Amino acid sequence: MKKLVSIVGLFLLLCCAGFSLHAQTIQPREKTISDAVESISSANMYTLVEELVGFHNRNNLSNTTHPTQGIGAAGHFLFEKVSSYIPQSNGRLSVEKVDYTVGGANTRLDRDVHLQNIVATIKGYDATDNRVIALLAHYDNRNGQENDTIRYAPGANDDGSGVACLMEITRILSRIEVPITVKCMFLSGEEHGLYGAQHMAGLAEKEGWNLIAVLNNDMIGNSDASETHTQTNTVIRVFSENIPVVETEEMRKTRVYNSAENDSPSRQLARYVKEVGERYVDNMQVKLIYRNDRFGRGGDHTPFARKGFSAVRICEVNENYDRTHQYVREENGIKYGDEIWAIDFEYVRKNTGVNLASVLNMALAPDVPRNVKLDASGLTNYSEISWEAPSQGKQPDAYYVLIRETDQSQWQKKILVRDTRIKLPYSKDNYFFAVQSVDAEGHESLAVFAEGKR
Ligand SMILES: [Zn+2]
Repeated sequence: MKKLVSIVGLFLLLCCAGFSLHAQTIQPREKTISDAVESISSANMYTLVEELVGFHNRNNLSNTTHPTQGIGAAGHFLFEKVSSYIPQSNGRLSVEKVDYTVGGANTRLDRDVHLQNIVATIKGYDATDNRVIALLAHYDNRNGQENDTIRYAPGANDDGSGVACLMEITRILSRIEVPITVKCMFLSGEEHGLYGAQHMAGLAEKEGWNLIAVLNNDMIGNSDASETHTQTNTVIRVFSENIPVVETEEMRKTRVYNSAENDSPSRQLARYVKEVGERYVDNMQVKLIYRNDRFGRGGDHTPFARKGFSAVRICEVNENYDRTHQYVREENGIKYGDEIWAIDFEYVRKNTGVNLASVLNMALAPDVPRNVKLDASGLTNYSEISWEAPSQGKQPDAYYVLIRETDQSQWQKKILVRDTRIKLPYSKDNYFFAVQSVDAEGHESLAVFAEGKR
């Protein structure tokens, strides 16, 4: 009887194995990345948020010339803080104040304002590789009223938490040699209409940057939901657009032909953040949200997405509306306002780890394979996928072919391939495929969806 049970058990196991792509995954952590994630300091980030809050009010209409208060002083402080990491960077880190003018009559700003983005550039060492990764956070803020420049507006979480994350990443990356360029952008103008991000996305387009990924961190430190009091610091959301807003008629036809409405480049970036973030940060689940952003609210990744760049928003899973865009006060036992005491710095530390691991893995990986295609010409139960080596930078050691069933969100299987084509015994009708480049240490590039071609 016991033997029969075990035979039945084995049979069931084999049946399941035959019908499912699920397998135990091995996720070796590479030392450069795990050491970097290890070195993230929540104490540093606490101090940074404390200093930001000290500027009293960082409204876009606030004082730009006062030495210790207002958005001008805050921007100058960030510029100085980034500059303090230049000596340890071996000449790779530079920082600039990017000026722009926005507003005017009949806009939400009501008058012209001169604002600044603070941009930290950590230059890659490979001159033959022009890829750029951008991280975004906004340092402007607001209280209960959009144009109130007088009353206290701490903005500790929105978006002091994102600014602290980027500052810590700048500090750590300034000491690590990577082949491609990483830009940490401390943006203004967000609360009045994403102006700072619009300006930078415009520059990226005009100057023809090869911007492969944009990670916007806006509100990553609150772990306690208002009203429902759901609490978690083990889940972070990554928002990504389903169908690219810039989709052309030709892109639309390709998408429909491939049923690829869940495979936009921004969605591939979101999947990448999930895979790599969870690989390197313990006790952390990256939750993909199939939306560009939340209802009725925007974020700095959107101007980049509108220019056709792959861009996602990283945001806490529980929002607290008592603490967002509120005057600091107490009413009926509820504390309102975006103050530092409410921030969960262990959560900020883990979310910074998700960002840092994703950026470093991407920066250390070879460029993506080109002309990735699935042969859709014949009637066969095999799938033939082919691709070409990247056109620039270090060449891959191998490639990963990714497979998932059509009703699954995440890639389920990774096959290491040394060639630039593979014939697999899976029907092309029942699966989606993509290809990544990978180096000898296991750093993989973003995934390129394999489009069916007749
Ligand atoms: Zn914000």
